[in-house]
Amino acid sequence: MKDTKAHREAEARMLPGSITAQGFLGEESRHLAEIIEADEGEFTRLGLDFESVAAELERLRDAGEGGLGEPMTVEATWVVQTGDARGKLPCPYEDGIHHKNSIWLRRIDSGESLVYSDLSIHLLRAHHFLQGRGSAFRLDPAAIKRILAR
Ligand SMILES: [Zn+2]
Repeated sequence: MKDTKAHREAEARMLPGSITAQGFLGEESRHLAEIIEADEGEFTRLGLDFESVAAELERLRDAGEGGLGEPMTVEATWVVQTGDARGKLPCPYEDGIHHKNSIWLRRIDSGESLVYSDLSIHLLRAHHFLQGRGSAFRLDPAAIKRILAR
C-alpha cells in the first residue's frame, strides 16, 4: 500500500487531542499505511475478512443493546455491555459521523475481552484500520479470531 495523501491526512487527525483525547494510534511508531498493511496481512493469514468481522461485531452490539447498559449474556458464549456517551465522532478520513459509544465484549470461556465502538467498526470495515498497538480500542486480529470463534 502506498503512503497516500488520504492516509497522511487521516493520520494527523488520529493524533491525541484532535478527534479524541487519546487519539487512535496508541504507542505506534509505524505510519498508518504500514499499520493497515500489516493488519491486512494478519487478517489474510488468520482467514478473517473485514466485512464478516464488522457484521459480527455489529450483531453482538445489537444483541448487547437489549441490556440497556447492563451486561447481557449472548448465546451462552459472550457477555456484552454497551454504553452511549450521547455524542458523535467524525471518522478521521472525513467520510462520516458516528455515535460515540463503547461496546465491551467478553468471551465467557476464556475471559478475554475487546472494547469497540461504532467508529471502530467503521474504521475496520471501510479503512481496514484496527487502531494502533497500545490503543484502548485496538482490535488485534488474533484476539478477534479467538473471541469471535464459534
Ligand atoms: Zn471513514
